[in-house]
Amino acid sequence: MQSFSDKSRKFANSMNSYPNLKLKPGKEKSLMRKHPWVFSGALTNDIKQTPEGSIVNVTDINNRYLGTGYVQHGSIAVRIISFTQCEIDLNFWTNKLEKSFALRQYLQLGDNASTNCYRLMHGEGDDIPGLIIDIYNGIAVIQCHTSGIYAHIQLISEALQKVLGDRLKGVYDKSKETLHGTVAHANNGLIYGTANDGVVSENGYQFHVDWVSGQKTGFFLDQRDNRALLGHYAKGKTVLNTFAYTGGFSVYALMNGAKQVDSVDVSKNAIEVLNRNMALNLPEASNYNSYAEDTFSFFKRSEQDYDIVILDPPAFAKNIGARHNAIMGYKRLNIEGLKKVKSGGLLFTFSCSQVVDAHTFLQTVMSAAMESGRNVKVLHRLSQPADHPVNVFHPEGEYLKGLVLWVD
Ligand code: SAH
Repeated sequence: MQSFSDKSRKFANSMNSYPNLKLKPGKEKSLMRKHPWVFSGALTNDIKQTPEGSIVNVTDINNRYLGTGYVQHGSIAVRIISFTQCEIDLNFWTNKLEKSFALRQYLQLGDNASTNCYRLMHGEGDDIPGLIIDIYNGIAVIQCHTSGIYAHIQLISEALQKVLGDRLKGVYDKSKETLHGTVAHANNGLIYGTANDGVVSENGYQFHVDWVSGQKTGFFLDQRDNRALLGHYAKGKTVLNTFAYTGGFSVYALMNGAKQVDSVDVSKNAIEVLNRNMALNLPEASNYNSYAEDTFSFFKRSEQDYDIVILDPPAFAKNIGARHNAIMGYKRLNIEGLKKVKSGGLLFTFSCSQVVDAHTFLQTVMSAAMESGRNVKVLHRLSQPADHPVNVFHPEGEYLKGLVLWVD
């Protein structure tokens, strides 16, 4: 009997004009499960013969169409951006962005004055591997991670104008760093409209966002829900926010009545913006200190213990090869962090390394607890917010893990 998917699959034909790349027998299974990556070893073709960034159709050994994607000369040779055969044109990008924006509106993020910054496009989570778009009060900051997406940035900008209409004031291209030199002409800059003052509102709190020289697209939108949870616990507490960046957690702590908020980040620029963010929200406040310093050196010299400690380091492992060292790094950090929590306090601890899964992270924190001699209970297991969705066919997209621990 023919299955539904067999019947509905078409032979690659002239529905678009892209060249076909053929998979080896049996290698079609992951694409049929809608996982968007094609590894170079799965192809009958030598990927180097097809120009980097070009659009191709991928077929099984019998020429049956599986998906349309773009080429990269790496171990992931093709990233699929459509599982139905179509032209990758303005219409395509408009449809994709319409879908993502509809989801954000469903999440009450599209037209929300108290939270006017959100992620509109989250790579595989929004079915377009390699494309990140963050919205900062009407400015779309695009971060292309591959030359295949970068080739379409003007069309993406046009599609944004169509989908967002008057809500869009400007489009900023922030792809130079994430393209890692693969596109010689890539340069950061405004590609549509005008910039604004860079002040956004998140849950009613104000933040300066510097997408020009800040990290990533300028702000870590993925911690929004976790910052709100910290706010819930902060009243009357002493809070230490390490790896604070521009003070996301610090502002929430201050605005929710923390007694004292200390912030540590190795970047001097980040600490300057952090201080501006604290003053922007509570100009009269003086119950906070900010240190441009390495977290470990701060831990070593500081003698104070805190009611709440936050550890939100950058990804310790960017690939599977670095995984073991990353785990050791998380363990060492959590041992030191636990030592700083008063008895009867909280540790908010995070990992954004994609290659360290939630179970491994919990085990690592558990062994840190054991070594630090503290009695620890898990109160909350945290993740990324709904505007950073995880495609169920691409579980690798679940990157942010957090634990809130009760420390006796
Ligand atoms: N919690 C932040 C995001 C943290 S991003 C927020 O909610 O916005 C990670 C931060 O760690 C970056 O700002 C980076 O400058 C900082 N960092 C990296 N290594 C560090 C170190 N050894 N000590 C202190 N900060 C560090």
